[in-house]
Amino acid sequence: MNRSVETILAHLAEEGGVFDPFGATHMPIYQTATFDLKKQSGEKIYDYTRSDNPTRESLENVFTTVCGGVGTVCTHTGLGAVALLFETVLKAGDHILVENDTYGGTFRMLKVYRERMNITVHFADFCDLISVESLLKKHSIRLILIESPTNPGLKIIDLKAVAELARESNTIFAVDNSLATFYSQKPIELGAHFELFSTTKYISGHGSVIGGALVTGDESLLAKLRYTANAEARSQNPLDVHAVSLGLPTLPLRMKAHQESALKIAEWLENHPRVTRVVYPGLQSHPQHALAKTQMKNFAGVITADLESVELAERLVAQCHLFGEKCSFGTADSRIEIPGKISHASFSAEELAAIGISSSTVRLSIGLEHVDDLIADLAEVLNG
Ligand SMILES: *Cc1c(COP(=O)(O)O)cnc(C)c1O
Repeated sequence: MNRSVETILAHLAEEGGVFDPFGATHMPIYQTATFDLKKQSGEKIYDYTRSDNPTRESLENVFTTVCGGVGTVCTHTGLGAVALLFETVLKAGDHILVENDTYGGTFRMLKVYRERMNITVHFADFCDLISVESLLKKHSIRLILIESPTNPGLKIIDLKAVAELARESNTIFAVDNSLATFYSQKPIELGAHFELFSTTKYISGHGSVIGGALVTGDESLLAKLRYTANAEARSQNPLDVHAVSLGLPTLPLRMKAHQESALKIAEWLENHPRVTRVVYPGLQSHPQHALAKTQMKNFAGVITADLESVELAERLVAQCHLFGEKCSFGTADSRIEIPGKISHASFSAEELAAIGISSSTVRLSIGLEHVDDLIADLAEVLNG
């Protein structure tokens, strides 16, 4: 039976599929470094937690199921999943193609890879598939890595079309699904070889733990992925796996609540005279709203907005009470930031301008507070 994600996440321990003699409701924590080989007789043998651990394996099995993949590695951070992807597929001298509007930490890591492994990084606007196709024809590209929605630009990329182009040019295609989550969209079903995400964000949902996961949909890449995770020491420790798992049963409910409030706030901002542009995939005015509706089941809770002046953007961040000035997104508490100052500090002003972000742009992560309180909080500054 093909059960829905809500049902799978509500039965996490059973779905994890790891042997448990007591029928525990939640995944047991195997907080141990080693396992005695003489005391195991099952099909599956554990020896050392860096390579394999029953708690981590449970969560990995759940992610594999809900992402429609064939295998997963849970990593110590979301950026660790990006690193594991690079370590699994890249060789010295390779070319990689990424979206202009890429997570700041990934961008910074690419700078390191350029120097250390002589990797050539090509950037493209993936809303322009003609130029993506010509880059794929011109260079021998090993890996495409994109996010959709991008962050903070919130562009929607046609994942199925990119998967098609990747297949034609024999390129590995990976999607960073941290912002949309597997609740909203399924990159592997649309043809990606890899889906990765930071579990720090919506997946754990409470800002209490850092983690990530790299899921593959390709049987031929799985052994290499698992081998590399062990060799490069990327796996997550069992207590952090447990902390991530606590948020999972409520993920679908939280995503619905984030979306409902974000849509109301995006509409309110759009009608505010001191706000010059609002970007949210759920808005009719979003340039790729139609594509977003076909590809995503949920538009999540991140909004990007341009205010009438830099001074107003800075004042909004400084003076609203319910929105913390914090990086990251996807938590119960709302957040606000000026991307160039925090999350995208590794971008130059020109690089930010190329993706439509200026010093009067704010990024909001809408939390689980009552939406009327959030609007009143923003109004106090914007109407003041
Ligand atoms: C946060 C984030 C990451 C990195 O995750 P960490 O858990 O902070 O290491 C990677 N990609 C995207 C899109 C993110 O938002």
